[in-house]
Amino acid sequence: MKELLPLTGAARVIGLTGAPGVGKSTTVSALVGAFRAAGRRVAVLAVDPTSPFTGGALLGDRVRMQDHATDDQVFIRSMATRGHLGGLAAAAPQAIRVLDAAGFEVILVETVGVGQAEVAVAALADSVVVLLAPGLGDAIQAAKAGILEVADLFVVNKADKPDSHQVVRDLRTMIALGHYEIGEWKPPIIETVATGGLRDAGIVELEHDLDAHWAWLRSSGELEHRRRERAREEITALALATLRTRLDADGVDELAARVAAGTLDPFQAAEELLDRPNA
Ligand code: GDP
Repeated sequence: MKELLPLTGAARVIGLTGAPGVGKSTTVSALVGAFRAAGRRVAVLAVDPTSPFTGGALLGDRVRMQDHATDDQVFIRSMATRGHLGGLAAAAPQAIRVLDAAGFEVILVETVGVGQAEVAVAALADSVVVLLAPGLGDAIQAAKAGILEVADLFVVNKADKPDSHQVVRDLRTMIALGHYEIGEWKPPIIETVATGGLRDAGIVELEHDLDAHWAWLRSSGELEHRRRERAREEITALALATLRTRLDADGVDELAARVAAGTLDPFQAAEELLDRPNA
């Protein structure tokens, strides 16, 4: 990592998240096509926070990504992170850094939206795209998951289905309720048909809006701010993982027995644990 560091910092990291079945993989594949048409080298990291970390690719050879299988300017890899030391917050940034150092200009990070995990992954990206589709992961559900707060762009996919307009209307209402200062980024809604090819299917618009967001990130100072926040999260996650291992190894059992027996209060026990020389 130390040796890679000087080679990093140039890549744009775009996170895409949404409920299973909204069309993330299809959209990512189409978006890869759009970025390739613009002459950019693209990497895709598909992070599955629900599967155990195995160290190997699980979904890397996904059928929908095979359009790009013979393109040596495209790299696709999947990664499962459940149970990994430090979890997602520690594992994904390192993978992103390697791809950045390898010279990929655009890194697409795709995650399944199933709870808080995808919010964590979304926080790893410079731009966050939240995908919705009619009948799946509707706007209200997304709001509950707290995902609306992290979205820089909304994609309503499956725009070929009639009830997609309702999703767009719900989203518009929600965005209208938000307060946006002058000069602040207001998330656009892009309607796409990810299965519809590049032309007239919203994918080119999505790419343009992503470019606009990237330009805004750089001119507003928000890019630097986000990257600092990201670094802070990464450091904290790594430190906490180490601390946890050390504390676990350091005889919590004995303190636990005293707390359970009512002879020590848990706050005092926690302080004692942290005061130990190894902590
Ligand atoms: P993911 O689970 O979010 O990655 O979703 P997938 O990309 O696997 O797509 C789920 C299903 O929806 C697949 O059968 C796709 O072919 C289909 N699909 C994706 N995009 C569209 C679209 O724009 N319109 C329609 N009608 N189907 C789509």
